[in-house]
Amino acid sequence: MSRKPLIAGNWKMNNTIGEAVVLAQEISNEFEPDWAETVDVAVCPPFVDLKPVKTVFEFDRTKIAVGAQNVYWEPSGAYTGEISVAMLKEIGCGYCIVGHSERRTLFGETNEDVNLKVKALLGEERDAIDPIICVGESLAVRDEGSYLEFVEAEVNAALAGVSEDEAAHVVIAYEPIWAIGTGRTATPEQAQEVCAHIRATVSALYGDDIAEGVRILYGGSMNEGNADLLMAQPDIDGGLIGGASLAAGSFIGVVKAAL
Ligand code: PEP
Repeated sequence: MSRKPLIAGNWKMNNTIGEAVVLAQEISNEFEPDWAETVDVAVCPPFVDLKPVKTVFEFDRTKIAVGAQNVYWEPSGAYTGEISVAMLKEIGCGYCIVGHSERRTLFGETNEDVNLKVKALLGEERDAIDPIICVGESLAVRDEGSYLEFVEAEVNAALAGVSEDEAAHVVIAYEPIWAIGTGRTATPEQAQEVCAHIRATVSALYGDDIAEGVRILYGGSMNEGNADLLMAQPDIDGGLIGGASLAAGSFIGVVKAAL
């Protein structure tokens, strides 16, 4: 089965509304309309920038989706500082990053939290917020050699209680923590080994048909110089891009590598 690649930019805590609108406009200006037939593209800005960035793309009729970087699983209530699935839906988000390693390590997000967020995104009556579930090992786990088991456990935990129908909408991003923001990219072979193992893990849960359709991204210092070799790997279906998504030229360079 051929999977449509997805390039998603994770802006992290960067860009005020004014800066976000400028960057979105620059990306929109460089994005050729027919690219959307070959590659899905999304940018994931901070919550406050979602609506303004969405408005830029809508005004230009640019087929780039917006995604959130986080969500809370309860539908509403006394959860100061949190954002619900319904709030993201109203903005028109197509994706939501879940379980990014920065949230796991800096904000104590657990596998159980990740699973609740994934189920909240998928379990609502579906109108398309696909979770981008981040998994990946630390350098210590890689050096110790148990990285495949570690990533497999994260995937299994994130998908606990997710039905076959729901699983078809999931995107999984393999992001080795040692490669995020470090300039040290996994080699295509290292990334492929883990992405193939993630697909096998999904297959064990839901069967080959679902596993062959699920998009698995690589993330970790991906840029316009290394994206094509990474995406040439059979189980890498695109990228989650941090640093290189913060300038239109480098982000568009990665998008072009997926065409
Ligand atoms: C990320 O944080 O999701 C990421 C991949 O960052 P970078 O590309 O900067 O390594």
